[in-house]
Amino acid sequence: MKNFLNRLFMNRYGMDKLGRFINIIIIVLLSINLFIKSRLLNGIILFFIIFMLIRIFSKDVVSRERENTYYCTQLWKLRRWKNTMLSDIKIRKNYKLFLCPICSKKMKVPKGKGKIKVTCPHCGHSFEKRS
Ligand SMILES: [Zn+2]
Repeated sequence: MKNFLNRLFMNRYGMDKLGRFINIIIIVLLSINLFIKSRLLNGIILFFIIFMLIRIFSKDVVSRERENTYYCTQLWKLRRWKNTMLSDIKIRKNYKLFLCPICSKKMKVPKGKGKIKVTCPHCGHSFEKRS
């Protein structure tokens, strides 16, 4: 039995982060389908299972790693965007955020100071803004 499994998985790609993500999607969809019992959702689940198995048993390691790298990059961008948004929400409580009209860099000024002259720390452009 162990020999059979060893031969089955020899030179195969196996599981990666994208594979685990697809696993989670399958589990979530299966859980949803317990309640709504949709044939369409069954088809979608079957598609994801086949896609996951094709990736696991694939011998084209380079392509699978490229897919995984793309997934990881998108995930990293999403996390960075989320962190930026959360950080902006915290900053907006006490500061007003705006972009420099010349270099488009993000700047912040304290709220409630009225009309103030702002100098961009990146390009040195000065302009007036209401805070
Ligand atoms: Zn600027």
